[in-house]
Amino acid sequence: MAQLIDGKAVAARVRAEVKAETEKLKAERGLVPGLTVVRVGEDPASKIYVTGKKKAAEEVGFNSWEVHPDEKITQDELLSLVDKLNKDPAVHGILVQLPLPKHIDAERIISAVKPEKDVDGFHPVNAGKLSLGKPGPRPCTPFGVMRLLEEVGCNPSGKRAVVVGRSNIVGKPMALMLLAADATVTVCHRKSNLAAEVANADIVVAAVGVPELIKGEWIKPGAVVIDVGMNRMPDGKLKGDVEFAAAKERASFITPVPGGVGPMTIAMLMRNTLEAAKATS
Ligand code: NAD
Repeated sequence: MAQLIDGKAVAARVRAEVKAETEKLKAERGLVPGLTVVRVGEDPASKIYVTGKKKAAEEVGFNSWEVHPDEKITQDELLSLVDKLNKDPAVHGILVQLPLPKHIDAERIISAVKPEKDVDGFHPVNAGKLSLGKPGPRPCTPFGVMRLLEEVGCNPSGKRAVVVGRSNIVGKPMALMLLAADATVTVCHRKSNLAAEVANADIVVAAVGVPELIKGEWIKPGAVVIDVGMNRMPDGKLKGDVEFAAAKERASFITPVPGGVGPMTIAMLMRNTLEAAKATS
């Protein structure tokens, strides 16, 4: 029977570390990290995420601002807003909450954020740095997964890791981070034989968006299972991408949904913002 990985507790620890370092930065350099979140329009999920990010930023002692333009904002207007934030020395981190309205090209907006202020780690320059093994802000969700592995004493070096899902924000950066940690990494997608690949894995990371796609019987006994999936069910409850009850019987460690990876994403955003502030001269 697996031990549960308590993402809430680890996230609280990360925030406490960031808070302590922020106090030091204030005392030594008179510098207060600043995070601006841009939320366009009225997407209800975005509103919840942004509220959580603002709350965490305040808790760790950052300056935090929300800019909330109407959903009719034009692409050019949004680009000039990003440009203004790029030039504002009090703003060390800029996060443009996705999704953006359909008439806006999200890739153009992400690319317009100064790479040094891209605390989401989505800018092509930062994606390139991750790919090349250079330091830079890392996408918060996979960055949080790496911290969870560390917390349970799971060193990926020499292990077989299977990442299910290849999105630019979770699957691909996850695979690169595990590779950088010397795992032997397999990335699965719709054309993969999931049962066969998962059965070989010492570490399974599921980031698909399909409830309980990964069956418990596929899990290698003793594997560490990280479930990034957050699927809202008709009854309003959240379910992961892994068949939790059955997987728990075989894994050594497993993340619950909710309370596993979810809280880590915001905590790592705080870490990225602090690092962005520290890097300013
Ligand atoms: P996405 O839709 O961009 O990507 C999903 C990936 O899964 C794609 O690469 C696709 O090829 C693959 N896929 C889809 N169906 C598949 C199947 N049947 N078999 C194999 N592969 C399949 O999603 P995303 O943004 O990467 O998010 C994935 C999940 O993680 C979602 O449930 C999302 O809500 C969740 N998520 C959670 C957090 C968090 O903070 N916990 C953050 C981001 C995303």
